[in-house]
Amino acid sequence: MKYLSTNKQSPAATLREAVVKGLAPDGGLYMPENIPPLPQSFFDRLYDMDLPEMSFHVASHFLGEDIPPADLKQMVYDTLDFPIPLVHVHDRLYTLELFHGPTMAFKDVGARFMARLLGYFTARRQQEITVLVATSGDTGSAVANGFYRVPGIRVFVLYPKGQVSAIQEKQFATLGGNITAIEVNGTFDDCQRMVKQAFGDEELNERLQLTSANSINWARLLPQSFYYFWGVAQMGKNAGKIACAVSSGNFGNICSGLIAKRLGLSISRFIAATNVNDVVPQYLSEGTFKPRPSVATIANAMDVGNPSNFARIAELYGHSHKNICADMEGFVCTDDQIRATIREVYSRWKYLPDPHGAVGYRALKSYLDQHADHSGFFIETAHPAKFTEAAEEATGEKIRLPDNLARFAGRTKQAEELSADFEILKTFLMN
Ligand SMILES: *Cc1c(COP(=O)(O)O)cnc(C)c1O
Repeated sequence: MKYLSTNKQSPAATLREAVVKGLAPDGGLYMPENIPPLPQSFFDRLYDMDLPEMSFHVASHFLGEDIPPADLKQMVYDTLDFPIPLVHVHDRLYTLELFHGPTMAFKDVGARFMARLLGYFTARRQQEITVLVATSGDTGSAVANGFYRVPGIRVFVLYPKGQVSAIQEKQFATLGGNITAIEVNGTFDDCQRMVKQAFGDEELNERLQLTSANSINWARLLPQSFYYFWGVAQMGKNAGKIACAVSSGNFGNICSGLIAKRLGLSISRFIAATNVNDVVPQYLSEGTFKPRPSVATIANAMDVGNPSNFARIAELYGHSHKNICADMEGFVCTDDQIRATIREVYSRWKYLPDPHGAVGYRALKSYLDQHADHSGFFIETAHPAKFTEAAEEATGEKIRLPDNLARFAGRTKQAEELSADFEILKTFLMN
């Protein structure tokens, strides 16, 4: 299968090129040239397969021509060696808990798969690969841990100083080895811009084999589609119409869900739930896409002012606002609403969502209240203990860190501080 840039100015790429480059030379994002539906035989068995088996089928559908089945199977099974349970919250409302991986956020799925795929490609070449990633929190930890000690790969994590939680920072800024953390005096959007500039810089690209591990990389997006099938399978044969709310920032997660739908998965409604950084919900209601600087919220992994995967969603729907709106609607939450939701869900239903999950919960609840014929699940994107303050405020209790997170707590930070200036980053990387 070939991959095409959403900007249409670059030649078609092979899987290897798309994954190693990350971003297309014209600045666009790679999409598979076509997305044929999965065969009926797959859906006939949907309720009989486990997560890795169904994921392997989806992976083979896209990557089967490029990677031998035994290697691909290994990658998929290694990636998904933790559970992704569907948990009943109340009434027709469920949550798909994606936080049982090593860094306790959904990004583990994409990062672990990408590390294995890149490792597969580099094992067959000599040149070292340099991974550049901008993070508002969870990407950095998932990527750093997914790639830690993978031979032939160096990772640089750029993050906005003072804008990620202490535990998040510990997860990517204390590893050392092949992982270097760069603390940028600026916003997440500055970090993302600097990474994009790096990919466009000829001199830097001659010196280093650069790749991006942000959700602009197809290798992260594809595996995220797996768990939408698993979510629907766990809802059961008699679930009827299913809605799915996805707390969104860069819109990679929901884009993977929309791809699953294009493959034939029956989710009748997607709800793009955001904090007050609501560029996409505004697009959905008004028809124009107007990026703007992000503002800080308590759901900080969604503080994105120019969501990069919107380009993929637009491409998937032929740039038609009407077609996009046929599958997806928006929902916006303020910080006060997020806090109130966490408190309410915890006191009423004894379920503790994290601030990001709370946005998804509220969006889904509102949709289900208006659609009595639907049931649905929201994606719980991170473990609530990662956002200790919000959790403790809502419950009035001290939150115990799960072992996966506690193991980072005592480590010392080792980060390089840089100003939000591409030339300074470039000099740093060249040395
Ligand atoms: C990254 C992240 C999001 C947003 O996901 P996107 O794919 O960027 O839309 C939501 N919640 C958490 C906890 C995250 O880490």
